Amino acid sequence: MGIDLNKIKQIFDDANSKAGAGIWRFTPKAGDNSLRLMPPWTDEGDWANLPMRRIFVHWVGSGQNADKRLCLKKTFGEPCPVCDEAAKLRGTGSPADAALASSLRPQEKYISNVVDLNDPVYDDGRPKMQLWEYGPMIYNGLATYIMDAEYGDISDPDEGFTIKLTRKGTNMSDTRYDIRCGRAPMAIGDYPGPDGKKLDQAAFLSAMTDLDKIGEIDDRFAKLPYDAMQQWYLGTTDIAPTMSAPVAAPMITDAGDLPDSMDDIPAFSGAESDIESKLRAAAGN
Ligand SMILES: [Zn+2]
Repeated sequence: MGIDLNKIKQIFDDANSKAGAGIWRFTPKAGDNSLRLMPPWTDEGDWANLPMRRIFVHWVGSGQNADKRLCLKKTFGEPCPVCDEAAKLRGTGSPADAALASSLRPQEKYISNVVDLNDPVYDDGRPKMQLWEYGPMIYNGLATYIMDAEYGDISDPDEGFTIKLTRKGTNMSDTRYDIRCGRAPMAIGDYPGPDGKKLDQAAFLSAMTDLDKIGEIDDRFAKLPYDAMQQWYLGTTDIAPTMSAPVAAPMITDAGDLPDSMDDIPAFSGAESDIESKLRAAAGN
């Protein structure tokens, strides 16, 4: 009698494909990771011609109940009930309330389409496109390369670069990232696949997720109406609304929130390019 390994793997894959619809979330493994940042998914709208989308999220609740939603104010410039709650807490003058308000602060995140070059395709050969959600330090690392004239658009399908991401540490409190780019440009279609054949570049480009529609795939990235956001907050938070409550230590829920080591990033020099000004605009400075 033997184990059905394929079935085991299929169930494992289903359970780990959190975003549903066959979309994988990229989580860097400990040690070295090689990945490819996919190019812009659209040439229209607020995120035209950028290889990442910026969002702001509120993490609410603790333990297994911790959950996140897009901050309506910072992401869309609209009234946000969680930000309103934080403002009320800050207004009470109580240090405990100020600490609670601080725990509700929206966190800056970025989402990109990436390919894990150590695991680029599904068993059936389809491109394994993954979504990578990361924090500002990794964004700064990517942007520094893009702004470096010796690298430029590292996401370019033909002339982009391999990203080498090293994750150090094993738990939430000691995790650090180093991010570096390979020395030579390489086309997506020049990487070897598991069967020895090269990756199908066109198939990878057409497998990218439309990040403008990420909320349709994962409701944690959906834009909720104000009332629905408030309902979600009240149902998730363990803070008594606009009242003093015991202070819980701020929870680190995502390795992407942690500082990353940027030792290996080359210094930027040279004229500001279009992509740099766009990136600066996207980063709000
Ligand atoms: Zn907000």
